[in-house]
Amino acid sequence: MSYVALYRKYRPATFDEVIGQDHIINTLRNQILQDKVSHAYLFCGTRGTGKTSTAKIFARAVNCPHAKENNGNPCGKCSVCNTVGNANLDIIEMDAASNNGVDYARDIREKVQYPPVNGRYKVYIIDEVHMLSVGAFNALLKTLEEPPAHALFILCTTEVHKIPATILSRCMRFDFRLVPTPLLAEHISRIYDAEGKEYSKEAVAAIAQAGEGSVRDSVSIADRCYSVSSGKLEYGDVLGVLGVSSKNNIVALAKAIFSNSTADILTEINKLVSEGKDVGRLNKDLSLYIRDVLTAKVCDNANGMLMLPQDVYEQLKELADGVTVKKLLYAIDQFVNVEAGLKYALSPLMLFEATALKVASSSGEVDWDGVNKRVTRLEHMSQNLNSDTRELYVVDVTDPKSIWRGVKLALDKRSEPLLSGLWSDVKVDFDSQRNFVLKCSEGAYWLIENQYKKILQAEIGQFCKGRIIIERENTASQSEIDKQLRDLGKDVKFDD
Ligand SMILES: [Zn+2]
Repeated sequence: MSYVALYRKYRPATFDEVIGQDHIINTLRNQILQDKVSHAYLFCGTRGTGKTSTAKIFARAVNCPHAKENNGNPCGKCSVCNTVGNANLDIIEMDAASNNGVDYARDIREKVQYPPVNGRYKVYIIDEVHMLSVGAFNALLKTLEEPPAHALFILCTTEVHKIPATILSRCMRFDFRLVPTPLLAEHISRIYDAEGKEYSKEAVAAIAQAGEGSVRDSVSIADRCYSVSSGKLEYGDVLGVLGVSSKNNIVALAKAIFSNSTADILTEINKLVSEGKDVGRLNKDLSLYIRDVLTAKVCDNANGMLMLPQDVYEQLKELADGVTVKKLLYAIDQFVNVEAGLKYALSPLMLFEATALKVASSSGEVDWDGVNKRVTRLEHMSQNLNSDTRELYVVDVTDPKSIWRGVKLALDKRSEPLLSGLWSDVKVDFDSQRNFVLKCSEGAYWLIENQYKKILQAEIGQFCKGRIIIERENTASQSEIDKQLRDLGKDVKFDD
């Protein structure tokens, strides 16, 4: 006996069996009941949400003579419903991924003119339609503009943004949604019941969660889990199949992070990675776990939503009680950013470790590290700007060097070359009484005392409450002073 994958075996055959897409199914059903079938449909949405299955059901329903008696469903008994695959000449399924050329679209255009053999409509289901070439789209467009009365097109795609607007405007569009986890869990339970497989509620919930909204993915996972245990399928079996970082280690890591224990954090990460865990997966598992902790922290009916085994949930709740909501939000924010950064990281492991340590040591309140970094960046930016926009400079009044840079920016506007020279020649600092001390060479001292004292005092005074003290750094001989003055050049003149 050959094995049929659960996904194929339990593929929906009627509208009633399609799950999680009621908004679409109701419309399609009514169109059949009221004979208001359109000529072109576009089914879009994430993979595994039922686009192709719905297209196939619709294709049979429009041709089934008993559909109206069956609430719009194909009856499953007549010759139209029972002719499957290529034998049904009125339903043409094609995959644009493998047939994307213009010739193919022209071929459709010619053949669509011939009337259907058995039913009322000749239905073309084109999967992955976004893969068609530009030429093929144009050829298809011609057909969509003037379709024969018996033609019906169902275009399916996961990437609707790649479909030309001219095509979009001629189709009735349906957006398939991700299926909610509880519905997926119900669906898997039904399949296991039909197969006579025993399972725990938590095991099925874990499968549904891993399916992330896709029916096909969930059922495939259920298929893999099916044969793992000969008896009852348990939560632990599912985790084993999924290769989820053994949950216990993730819990231990989260605990280490929220108790800010550096050694434990690094040990747990090392354990997980040496088990062969990929850093991206690890980061995702940890983020999801922290999300669960947050749910346990803020929601009254948390385990109703999470559907975890009681002991796992109690562990989660205990952890949640010891952390603030702010810190949890901060942690989620940080680890979500890691996911984006992994691609560019020199060492993904180091990035992950550093983030874990950062989250551990932060209260989640104000990110001073981030604020400092931004201020520093602003300061550096202003030095690269031209003089017109230097107002952006941010002066840190606790740092004499920052004040001195601010002074320079103000001085630069005066277009006095001597001042620029002075600026770099002077060392600045606070003394113990927070007075601003300028230490300068003999030449600079002389210039400041005689010429620029007032200007400098005015500029520094804006940032500094203390006195401004000008000191000679060392005593130079008169000949050195003369030399320094000579070095300033002939253009320099002094007022008497
Ligand atoms: Zn039928």
